[in-house]
Amino acid sequence: MAATTPRGRLQGKNAIITGAGGGIGLETSILFAREGANVLMADVSEPALAKALAKVKEVVPTAPRVELIRCDVSKESDVQAMVESQDSWGGTDVIFNNAGIMHANDADAIDTPEKIWDLTHNINVKGVWFGSKHAVLSLRRHKKARGSIINTASVVALVGAATPQLAYTASKGAVLAMTRELAIVHAREGFRFNALCPAPLNTPLLQDWLGDDQAKRFRREVHFPTGRFGEPIEQAHAVVFLASDESSFVNGTDFVVDGGMTKAY
Ligand code: NAD
Repeated sequence: MAATTPRGRLQGKNAIITGAGGGIGLETSILFAREGANVLMADVSEPALAKALAKVKEVVPTAPRVELIRCDVSKESDVQAMVESQDSWGGTDVIFNNAGIMHANDADAIDTPEKIWDLTHNINVKGVWFGSKHAVLSLRRHKKARGSIINTASVVALVGAATPQLAYTASKGAVLAMTRELAIVHAREGFRFNALCPAPLNTPLLQDWLGDDQAKRFRREVHFPTGRFGEPIEQAHAVVFLASDESSFVNGTDFVVDGGMTKAY
């Protein structure tokens, strides 16, 4: 769990984090609050959000402003309402489009059900498009000279997974390509787009997908030079950097946080 010491690298910034009900989104909410950001935590699960909000307030009692909003990122009307709800805060400066799923029935080209493909792409790809679109509209509406949009991709956008999850892999490749183009198109407006590429982490998303299958777990873990999966807080630290003005010349990157996994053989 993050330390509580207030810092201030995101002081005065209004931030939205999707998928804030757990995993990377929750740890990032804690660090953003600690760094002085005003944080709007968004998730499709209201019970998860309520617990997550309580956690942030407990860990960072000095948090300037932390609120929650229910949002299904696959629905544009929800995403629009989420972003516009920050208009009264002074407009959004940072959005972390992080919500995503990896379905247990996602498999190879033969066995992946079409409905799982569509569900995965609606959340993982359309969700990032909608979040990016409404972030740009908000940044323009509030005449912001700079903005930072961080989209969660995955290392599977860079390397093939031997334990197949074709719909998920394709969706994260789309996030990477979309982020790159957005970064180029909006650079002269001062809006930066970067893609976070985490390697497998200890979050419910991974644990649910691995289940009790020890062979599947081993097949994943063996690629880690560190001998372990990552922790969500190790991603959250990278997101703070990408959100902050410290990364003002970092744009369009595939920001890989993987303990060296993609460099291992
Ligand atoms: P998690 O399952 O712990 O948290 C994801 C959150 O997203 C949950 O709270 C869930 O309720 C929420 N969510 C799901 N569908 C949603 C929707 N339609 N609208 C809004 N919220 C929704 O997952 P995590 O591991 O923290 O994953 C966060 C991101 O990181 C995802 O995009 C995931 O693909 C990516 N990622 C995870 C890993 C990993 O191993 N855990 C690795 C690489 C990338």
